Amino acid sequence: LPLAASEALRIIENAGGEAWCVGGFVRDALLGRPVHDVDIATSLPWQRVRDAFEGAGWGTAETGVAHGTITVVRKGEPLEITTYRTDGSYSDGRHPDSVAFASSIEEDLKRRDFTINALAYHPKRGIIDPFDGLSDMRRGILRCVGDPLTRFSEDALRILRACRFASQLGVAIDEATFEAMVASKSLLRKVSGERIYRELERFVCGDHVHDALMTCVDVLAFVLPELVAMKDCAQVTKYHIYDVLEHTAWVVQRTPPEPLQRWSALFHDMGKPAAAFFEGEVEHFYGHAAVSVELAGGIMHRLPFPAWLRRDVPVLVRAHDDVVPANTRAVRRMLGRLGGRTDLFEALCDIKRADALAQAPFCAPRANTAEELRALMRQILEEEAAFSVKHLAVNGRDVMALGVEAGPEVGRILDAALDAVIDERVPNEREALLTFVSSELYD
Ligand code: ATP
Ligand code: MG
Repeated sequence: LPLAASEALRIIENAGGEAWCVGGFVRDALLGRPVHDVDIATSLPWQRVRDAFEGAGWGTAETGVAHGTITVVRKGEPLEITTYRTDGSYSDGRHPDSVAFASSIEEDLKRRDFTINALAYHPKRGIIDPFDGLSDMRRGILRCVGDPLTRFSEDALRILRACRFASQLGVAIDEATFEAMVASKSLLRKVSGERIYRELERFVCGDHVHDALMTCVDVLAFVLPELVAMKDCAQVTKYHIYDVLEHTAWVVQRTPPEPLQRWSALFHDMGKPAAAFFEGEVEHFYGHAAVSVELAGGIMHRLPFPAWLRRDVPVLVRAHDDVVPANTRAVRRMLGRLGGRTDLFEALCDIKRADALAQAPFCAPRANTAEELRALMRQILEEEAAFSVKHLAVNGRDVMALGVEAGPEVGRILDAALDAVIDERVPNEREALLTFVSSELYD
């Protein structure tokens, strides 16, 4: 138990209360997974929690006192402390109409979503496990506390939390729980976009996302209907052994667990079903990347994706299928097309590598090509070779001084100069580039 948490338990006990560690911390510690924040449940009302911690010199913040939660802080480390409670009825499928404070930890554990999340731990008193969460944990099963249909109708977000835990923990969803997820999925309509996005991001970044996506696709399709067409899209090409959905699931799984790579991987072939339709056959899926970009843009505007993902994901989806031979010139050109963003180039290599590994066995060597591209990029950086107009020995002002009006033409001329430098037709030197620019003006 982290020091701050055991001290917090002691402070509550000295103030005459009872306290237990609960939630994700207990679950993850028992599973041997990295643990982050510790949540604490207590018999004390929040006002007494606040007074006890202020008396002990900790900082406190009233982060959710309406449902009994306050945050206490020691040396910048926050802990959430929540008074035992039971949630009243849920008429809107989102928020309990009322919260009632409860007198025992057992009662508090009843309101929790899944059995493996309904464990309480105390360093002296051990574990409380009223719903056989330990046995479910040993068997790798995710099961609702109580009747699944009731629990999902109280709070539909739990449906997506189940998908997310399947992806993060690799647990299998209990049959009755899964049936209730499918039957209740339309209740997700009531859940805010922010809460949906938060769970989906954890879902795509999970270590077991392939299996979880294949299992949960029909449930997830309520918020990502684009998945349905992927499931039904066979790929009759020599490059593929899986349909579009399963191929995608493998690509996602094989990229680093970061939102940029994972979302780009999920979207990269989303345009294939439509491309196949327009093409009338499914040999090459010409232009599918452009369609994927369109669909990804739609999803990222429907759900509250952060602005940086809305900006960067389409760039990677657009470029994922571009051929980049393993030579310095091609890499510099691609870097140029990515606006000089080396981080995007690395992410593109991650996706190309994963894509190659998820294709037919004879495509696997292309994973090495992706690694060669990455090595070439690092070499280019070391040699400080130009790959962006920012690296040229002339700039927009120089071009305008030669008589070009401010506007897109300036950019076009700089791009041409960069091309010439990458092709080694012109050295990256000021005089030579000014001569080049003047000659461009006569064309
Ligand atoms: P994470 O690793 O993401 O923090 P977590 O299980 O701790 O996972 P939190 O959202 O931090 O998730 O919630 C802490 C605990 O509160 C959960 O373990 C669960 O017991 C309970 N809980 C959270 N959200 C819900 C919910 N929507 N319905 C019921 N119980 C919930
Ligand atoms: Mg937590």
